[in-house]
Amino acid sequence: MSWDKIGIEDKLLSWHEIMEAEEYVYTVGVAGEEFFNGLKQKKIIGGKCPRCGRIYVPARLYCEECFVKNDFVEVTSRPYIDTYTVIYKDDEGNKLEKPQVIALIRFEGTHGGLLGYVEGEANIGKEVEILEYKIPLIVRVK
Ligand SMILES: [Zn+2]
Repeated sequence: MSWDKIGIEDKLLSWHEIMEAEEYVYTVGVAGEEFFNGLKQKKIIGGKCPRCGRIYVPARLYCEECFVKNDFVEVTSRPYIDTYTVIYKDDEGNKLEKPQVIALIRFEGTHGGLLGYVEGEANIGKEVEILEYKIPLIVRVK
């Protein structure tokens, strides 16, 4: 695949002789829309397989084990820190005023997880409270 650039890397002009890229709006898909609409209502929406009961976070349209269409469900199980890292510099290498902790937040009994900035002392397995429903989440250690 090749594409033309207009001198600025993030300003994609077109895929050569195929399509105009800058005119398109990309969607998050059916499951993504359910998930993001849930965040607006301060809910975590997952996709639950009607056959095996597996719940995916964020929501997915199909179960990867059973290949059947999932139902959308609100996930209310305990969120916890699965793993985390401490960030000392911004993406341009400048030292941050204070280190920032970002974690993979999982929900008990579900598959998948969401990234979240952590307030408080992060530790693997610690339960968190969701303060802000956005991506990444803002969470506080309980
Ligand atoms: Zn399944």
